[in-house]
Amino acid sequence: MPSSRPMLTSILRGLRGRCPACGQGRVFDGFLKQAPVCSHCGEPIGQIRAEDGPPWFTVLILGPVLAPITFLVSMNESGPLWLSLPALGTGAVGAVLLLLPRVKGAFIGLLWRMQQGA
Ligand SMILES: [Zn+2]
Repeated sequence: MPSSRPMLTSILRGLRGRCPACGQGRVFDGFLKQAPVCSHCGEPIGQIRAEDGPPWFTVLILGPVLAPITFLVSMNESGPLWLSLPALGTGAVGAVLLLLPRVKGAFIGLLWRMQQGA
């Protein structure tokens, strides 16, 4: 059945961790574990497999930001490297933990919308 919902709406709902169909129920049961069905509308969102897309896209987003920062920090001799590089690593892990669930939710929203047809 063709859906009249715009693709961007489904992606934005997923980005907020909400069901791409209704925008009310939650996509995730845990940090990254998908709920089998939407708690609000019963949409079977657990069947949607994002696979390696979200981690790949997260690296694609963070890589161009973190690589130059790492380079600049390591070339800057004003601070001790044993302190700045672990701090940078912690920041990178934090950025991944912040971004990955949102990217996965957006992917699920996109995949759900693509399953609905044009
Ligand atoms: Zn729903």
